[in-house]
Amino acid sequence: MNTPTDSPDVYDVVVIGAGIVGSAIARELSGYQLSVALLEARDDVGDGTSKANTAILHTGFDAKPGTLESTMVSRGYQLLSDYASRTGIPVEHTGAILVAWDDEQLDALPGLKEKAEANGYQHCEIVDSAAVYAAVPELGPGALGGLTVPDESIICTWTVNLALATDAVNRGTTLLTGHRVERIETDADGTTLHTAAGPVRTRWVVNAAGLGADVLDGLFGFSRFTVTPRRGELIVYDKLARPLVDKIVLPVPTSRGKGVLVSPTIYGNVMLGPTSEDLTDRTATGTSETGFDFLLEKGRALMPRLLEEEVTATYAGLRAAIDHGDYLIEADPAQHYLLVGGIRSTGLTAGIAIAEYARDQLVSAGLELTPAERLPDPPRMPNLGEAFERPYQQAEKIAADPAYGRIVCFCERVTEGELRDACHSVIPPAALEGLRRRTRVMNGRCQAFFCGAEVKSVFERESQESNR
Ligand SMILES: Cc1cc2nc3c(=O)[nH]c(=O)nc-3n(C[C@H](O)[C@H](O)[C@H](O)COP(=O)(O)OP(=O)(O)OC[C@H]3O[C@@H](n4cnc5c(N)ncnc54)[C@H](O)[C@@H]3O)c2cc1C
Repeated sequence: MNTPTDSPDVYDVVVIGAGIVGSAIARELSGYQLSVALLEARDDVGDGTSKANTAILHTGFDAKPGTLESTMVSRGYQLLSDYASRTGIPVEHTGAILVAWDDEQLDALPGLKEKAEANGYQHCEIVDSAAVYAAVPELGPGALGGLTVPDESIICTWTVNLALATDAVNRGTTLLTGHRVERIETDADGTTLHTAAGPVRTRWVVNAAGLGADVLDGLFGFSRFTVTPRRGELIVYDKLARPLVDKIVLPVPTSRGKGVLVSPTIYGNVMLGPTSEDLTDRTATGTSETGFDFLLEKGRALMPRLLEEEVTATYAGLRAAIDHGDYLIEADPAQHYLLVGGIRSTGLTAGIAIAEYARDQLVSAGLELTPAERLPDPPRMPNLGEAFERPYQQAEKIAADPAYGRIVCFCERVTEGELRDACHSVIPPAALEGLRRRTRVMNGRCQAFFCGAEVKSVFERESQESNR
């Protein structure tokens, strides 16, 4: 838990939820002369839905035209692409191909192309079956045609969240982890947020609590929506499968969502998923036998060769689906409160655009903004992307600091130097899981069987030193 020593008695703005959306909003607002706090229930940033998704930087080609989501995703694509190049967040512009497997899906392709154009994306092309197989030779039999989406890309969702939160802290945001908001009190001067770690006073509140946003909204007296956790399970295949898939292979989307895809990952693996299953338990991030069987059946039709490869891991994330066809971003000027809800399946891409929009909504509701006089440069993040150079490959770096030459995790080739750096970073990991997201350590085919004990000992040693 963070306990800052120089926090004001009353913050100008408190943002609740340190996922991608809340971190982006805190970063945006701390670009102005405001005292901002970012409150997070868990012990680390990026530990909710933002850590477990399919990690695609969407063009927004398939969004519903005219929605706020469509606008935010296409703007977010531009903003995040630019931010990634400035911070070193790894992105691979693999492109995607949407495949039609029956006549009905084939007939849907012109409509999807028109939809993409209505969303401002002009680069889709309808291609025949021969072109589909030329693009993805390992695809299973029966593809009738496809739609290309050349700008869909893969990205590291962990680094996006961490970069935005680090940037926010560097700009002056106070990060308060371990602060689950449980109760609120409002009076003429502001709001008291009663958290698991004590009260926090603020003039304005932004609710970016993802799966918990409706519960918090209820504390402000609203009952305008309900979050349904929509579980998406995924299978991650070994790096040896990577040559089979060098672009994102998408199905024709349905009303349930984007469907099951096959995609390379930024870490050099291949991913199959996600499922789409409405649950009631907002903590049910475990995987299931039925989900696994469903994905294997889909995978067998999509790419039979993939199923011969070894599975490295499975995981699941929960989309914050709501009973409303769009994002729900609404300000309540009277309570100095902004809801940022229903950011279901596109929030990784749209986060920075949502932050701009949230800022404008706050201004319309009466928040006064004066730009900060000076802002630090955005942080330069450690590269976790397999397609780009990593420390173990950099002779000069190793010569200057031998810790970058000592590999601890052999599957993912993570060095002691990277583990040490993460533990001494602006937002150090609270636990081994956080170290995994910051470095890729323990993520490979042995799943920490070989390196687990050493990683733990480096983590404990370096965390202790960093706390001194
Ligand atoms: C299977 C799956 C696939 C996806 N694929 C993609 C994709 O390819 N591309 C894309 O752009 N998007 C994708 N998404 C969507 C994307 O992951 C989400 O939209 C995004 O992560 C939402 O971020 P968030 O900050 O709103 O929520 P979160 O990351 O969940 O953050 C909310 C935070 O609020 C905290 N919180 C909750 N209640 C409280 C409280 N009372 N007090 C304090 N803190 C609280 C939580 O602990 C959490 O850390 C996918 C999602 C899933 C599940």
